Amino acid sequence: MKRVLFTAASGLAMSLSMPAAVNAQEAEMTTNGEMTSAETNPLLAEWTGPFEGVPPWDQMAPEYFPGAFEAAMEEMRAEVQAVIDNPEPATFDNTNRPMELIGETMGRVQAMFGVAVSNISNDEYRAVQAEWAPRLAAFYQQLYLQPELIERYRTVYENLDESDLTDEQRRLATRDYEQLQRNGALLEGEDRERLSEITQELASLYSEFSNKVLADEETYILLDSEDDLAGLPDSFVSTLRGAAEEREVEGWAVVNTRSYMQPFLQNSTRRDLREQVYNAYINRGDNGDENDTNATIAQILQLRAERAALLGFETHAHWRMADTMAQTPENAEDLMMRVWPAAVARVEQEVADMQAIADREGAGITIEPWDYRFYAEKVRQDRYSIDESEITPYFQLENMIEAMFWAAGQLYDLEFTENTGDVPVFQEDVRTFVVTDSRDGSNVGLFYLDNYARTGKRSGAWMTTYRSQQTLGGEQNVLASNNNNFTEPAAGEVALISLDDASTLFHEFGHGIHYLLQDVYYPGLSGTPRDFVEYPSQVNENWLLTRAILDRFATHYETGEPMPQALVDRIEESSTFNEGFATVEYLSSAIVDMRLHNRTEPVTDVDAFERETLAEIGMPEEIVMRHRLPQFNHLFSSDAYSAGYYSYLWSETMDADTWEAFEETGDVWNREVADRFREYLLSTGNETDRAEAYRQFRGRDPDVDALLRKRGFPVPAEGDTTD
Ligand SMILES: [Zn+2]
Repeated sequence: MKRVLFTAASGLAMSLSMPAAVNAQEAEMTTNGEMTSAETNPLLAEWTGPFEGVPPWDQMAPEYFPGAFEAAMEEMRAEVQAVIDNPEPATFDNTNRPMELIGETMGRVQAMFGVAVSNISNDEYRAVQAEWAPRLAAFYQQLYLQPELIERYRTVYENLDESDLTDEQRRLATRDYEQLQRNGALLEGEDRERLSEITQELASLYSEFSNKVLADEETYILLDSEDDLAGLPDSFVSTLRGAAEEREVEGWAVVNTRSYMQPFLQNSTRRDLREQVYNAYINRGDNGDENDTNATIAQILQLRAERAALLGFETHAHWRMADTMAQTPENAEDLMMRVWPAAVARVEQEVADMQAIADREGAGITIEPWDYRFYAEKVRQDRYSIDESEITPYFQLENMIEAMFWAAGQLYDLEFTENTGDVPVFQEDVRTFVVTDSRDGSNVGLFYLDNYARTGKRSGAWMTTYRSQQTLGGEQNVLASNNNNFTEPAAGEVALISLDDASTLFHEFGHGIHYLLQDVYYPGLSGTPRDFVEYPSQVNENWLLTRAILDRFATHYETGEPMPQALVDRIEESSTFNEGFATVEYLSSAIVDMRLHNRTEPVTDVDAFERETLAEIGMPEEIVMRHRLPQFNHLFSSDAYSAGYYSYLWSETMDADTWEAFEETGDVWNREVADRFREYLLSTGNETDRAEAYRQFRGRDPDVDALLRKRGFPVPAEGDTTD
């Protein structure tokens, strides 16, 4: 899954949402007395050079980090102490405002450390991380949860009615206070102790859960004869062979993970083996052995319910959703249940199509869950006959980078010029681009682009900022980066990327645009709720397959011809293929997640709950949840996506409706729509309520029908809906 990373440190909300320390015992703060000044440690120096200072990547080394963290923590302690020691009664100006600006050094050090561990990691950086991640988490807890500081936040909050603060200041003061409340900072005595016990117990249950699932994912099914490989592509057979060799066994190992299960079920003509692989996969964590997670989940649910009650929330879902756009479990449930029937209806069609092929081939079977991917692939080949190798020659990486820059120029007046100056980079492949506003030539910032996979770089694609926009501390150039994992071409060859890679490029760049266009005053009002984050990035993907982009940039690397419309049409037609399956697989997981956590009485029989809930919503029997509860890491290896798996759908609904706003004008480059999108949604961070911001942009709430149309589902006729 694509992710956004934020640079840490600035703002209360961000610092407290860092992973909480498991055992928040007093960390030793004395290890490394050296290298804690800018004279001896380059990480502590102010950033210098162009664009109001850039990170000195060329001077970064693992041994500098401990001293830099020490010094940065010391600075933050002193800054907070100064706020606490202020003899005046607490006000927004002497409490919230100065707290917004603390930790400047920490912000710089963390930005560099993020790159160290994500882009160019090695054993030394991993060792620093292992030691410092828990120490920093404990540090933030101790720093922000000091009673005198909490008291000051409380005073500001309780006097809001009498103050003459602006709406924005009120929003910040309210959010700061509510954040403390949600974290249990306002609890006292026994309640506070109990919360700390619950936090610790949950942390160990989370690692117990993920270890058990991991253990089951390390098991494998061993194939020992050529017959067992029927239908599998050669490259996948090599992968299976490699997996067996790694485990020092003879034959071919189908490891019990998604990346093995999926191609196996899609390609294997051995129905008996498909069934076997499928069953092993869907029963991870659910085998009644030492790795069974059902009891672990029941304990987690029990503790979550207790914690929610302690913090004054109706359920765990209400607690988790307090700072989301959806706001309540009911709103999320409403959206999901509007999409659900259409997805189920589509699955019925998909199954009928597959059954027809099976019958035509005389297979003599009824489509079962282990047949779905296999027959879906047959339908796909039958209907669309698109081969990836037809598309790739049109997507030259270099041209697609130019394409995304060009689109940002058309829509938002952003201009990107490759920087040929002496800005340091952390790896020789990394490129930098100067970003200017083409209307007046002013500098917006610097954009770092790290495209290729390499050892030490984590997988996937992500966006991050090394320095974010804010006005309170003085306007500064934004330093943003996109990080992808494309395969580096051999020397002298053109880098070609797949359609999927090209979408990823536009997706991450959409996050980049969001942060380049941000125009907020308080750092604490930047960022967005969890169910909004993927919206700007998803919207940006839409421009990829437009004629303007394809004609100019998707040219064949040998002939120079633009991508033919017939091929574009086939890509577009196939884009809604198998969406019934994908939607039901995802949505059933999201619905079960929400119902599991939106209860005051915690579920004790997890298996029964899953079964009964699926029966209640009419789960098609040909499909299983994308993540069954016994293996649902999003929910049980941390709090992160618990009561939050719906978020993807929430963002996608806004995406679909926003794209229609462009399409409705007859011109997807319509500047009036782009200007409104920028003004209300992209530039405003979290300064205003996001639902209200959307209404300002669109004149109404997001229309779920747009999502149905995007996924190719039938849209209920007017009057059929009940909202
Ligand atoms: Zn994303």
